[in-house]
Amino acid sequence: MTTGAGIYFDGQTSVRQDVGVALGASGLEIAGRDGRLLAQWPYDQIEGLAAPDSVLRLGRRGSAALERLEITDTQFAAIIDARALHVDRTGLRQRRQRIRVIGWSVAATASLLLVAWFGVPAIAERLAPLLPAGIERKLGEAVDMQVRTLLDNRRLGAGFECGSQDSEKPGRAAFDKLMQKLQTAADLPLPVRGIVVRRTEANAMALPGGQIYVFRGLIEKAATADEVAGVIAHELGHVAHRDGSKAVLQAGGLSFLFGMLLGDFVGGGAVVLAAKSVLQSSYSREAEAAADAYGTALMNKAGGNARALASMLEKIGGATEPGMQILLDHPETKARIAAINRLAAERPAEPMLDAEEWAALKRICAG
Ligand SMILES: [Zn+2]
Repeated sequence: MTTGAGIYFDGQTSVRQDVGVALGASGLEIAGRDGRLLAQWPYDQIEGLAAPDSVLRLGRRGSAALERLEITDTQFAAIIDARALHVDRTGLRQRRQRIRVIGWSVAATASLLLVAWFGVPAIAERLAPLLPAGIERKLGEAVDMQVRTLLDNRRLGAGFECGSQDSEKPGRAAFDKLMQKLQTAADLPLPVRGIVVRRTEANAMALPGGQIYVFRGLIEKAATADEVAGVIAHELGHVAHRDGSKAVLQAGGLSFLFGMLLGDFVGGGAVVLAAKSVLQSSYSREAEAAADAYGTALMNKAGGNARALASMLEKIGGATEPGMQILLDHPETKARIAAINRLAAERPAEPMLDAEEWAALKRICAG
């Protein structure tokens, strides 16, 4: 048992008593010079009190009497500090926490190396479909913040989203109606949110957790509401297949695994890296074909013109997402268009939005 010297005030009298302090397994014992036990304080009830640097002054939590104990021997004080749960005068706990953080970083780095060896794609591919919806949404929110910052290069802030100004509100209503029709038909297990943003490229993108960005350039380039809907349906395919999560997990590597364990994706370079990769990289040919097939089936189901996805692909050279290469007149794009037309149902009589709504959607970013 570790023992040392201290000065004890019982809180009732102003008498200063030289005491012996013995550190037991669960608490410390304060005894007078004559060996009489004066107090027993469990470690989890000891708190640090304000004192000069040279003194460790302790009190007992919830004690009615203002009893206190002072330790001047720095070594002995450090031992008590380490044992008492609510005392961290020497910063030991903080140091331990720092060591834990370093431990996590080392583990994360080690896993990144492992992943580099065995290949992230294989791991991300298997992992993404297993993500619980809540975690995927959190991951999506963290990536979304970064993606928005990267896309909003004119620093418009809230104004980056189209449809908020009065003149744009009918457009927003038309867009929401279109999203709603597609979402109802898609019946995905997670809620999808769609927004139109002030970017001139004719693109759209889906983030993990179901956030869909439609760039104003896409709406400007589209001839019909069904063409816009077709691309959104394709993006919903990426949501359904968890392609965004796979891409992000690949880019962020296993740091995201740790993020999941710690329940915190924000902070740390992984999310920035992931957001950049979402904007710069493109999906595999297989993933695109699968999203096309999904989008076509969804347009059929929603009562839209599935061929509109094909005609839009033709216009934008197959580059639905920002990271993709425009391949006008490319065999790959032609094959995609042919596949969509094969799967498309007969052209419906009604467009997805009426003429007035489509005109409003065209002006959603006109503000
Ligand atoms: Zn795509």
